[in-house]
Amino acid sequence: MKRIGALVLMGVCWLALLSPSVSAAQVRRATSAQPPSAQQPLIPIYKWCEQQYEVPWTLLAAIDRYAELTKPKDVRAAAPYYGFAFQRSAWAGMDNPNPDDIHPLTIRIFRGIGADGDHDGVAAPWDPWDRIPVLARWIDEESGEDDAETAVWTLFQDPVATERVFAFQRIFDRWGLDPEGHCFPVSKRYNYSLKATFGAARSWGGRRIHEGVDIFAGYGTPVLACAYGYVELMGWNRYGGWRIGIRDANNYYYYYAHLSSFAKGLKPGALVQPGQVIGYVGSSGYGPPGTSGKFPPHLHFGIYRDTGRHEWAFDPAPLLRQWQRLPQKITLPGSNA
Ligand SMILES: [Zn+2]
Repeated sequence: MKRIGALVLMGVCWLALLSPSVSAAQVRRATSAQPPSAQQPLIPIYKWCEQQYEVPWTLLAAIDRYAELTKPKDVRAAAPYYGFAFQRSAWAGMDNPNPDDIHPLTIRIFRGIGADGDHDGVAAPWDPWDRIPVLARWIDEESGEDDAETAVWTLFQDPVATERVFAFQRIFDRWGLDPEGHCFPVSKRYNYSLKATFGAARSWGGRRIHEGVDIFAGYGTPVLACAYGYVELMGWNRYGGWRIGIRDANNYYYYYAHLSSFAKGLKPGALVQPGQVIGYVGSSGYGPPGTSGKFPPHLHFGIYRDTGRHEWAFDPAPLLRQWQRLPQKITLPGSNA
């Protein structure tokens, strides 16, 4: 029996020895939210449309990205292709007896917006060379002399969607469609300990479960952006104290709470990159603004996903363990390239 126990133990040790050999590149691949290639083939089409219609190609990409990430099941079933899907009646024309019409001539007769972008004789919504030029032309016409905000609003009919599309566009303008890389959310140069307590009951604030993990570290330990994204939220909340929310262009939302202060110069809407200092560890919260010291200093860190209709938290511990192995390149706000 003892020998078996020793063998099992050896097996465990082997695993422990093997795991650090996973390369940073492998970790990075494992943590990308979706294959970076998914939207890459569309880039030449977006850029061609920018030339034709004076609509920034990154705006077209942002519309497609947001639409893709929030596509309801029924829409995906009817339009199983990447990106924004026009309603069939809009594409083919309201009074068109064939709502799936792909003939450019009859679509024009019934005043559908569908068009044959690449002159192959059909106007197919699933062909990105038809769909994206139609989208670009429509935005161009809807925008007129104004900016594209109203046009994007009309596409999604949702203020949250409009805000995120333009935020995604800013991320794409700065770093392209698929900036790679993440960062552990506190500086590894300081002492810290990760407590994976996702889902645990909480002592304060009634019956809420713990939607994140706690990283215990001393006051003033730098707190870092963990992804390429933008500051969606900054301020006080009676549970979270001083907190920051960062969203990336895959619609992941990273929530940081109990900070002692924010990084100097950081403002809501600011773009952030992995390793950028966004604030400092503290023990703020559990009371009116300024309350601090009701528990030991730590960073509460949560990750949320959002389909556009509902939002949920998932356990960030597995991702954090991967990010822990990545090198950190720490920068201050304003110093990023
Ligand atoms: Zn917590």
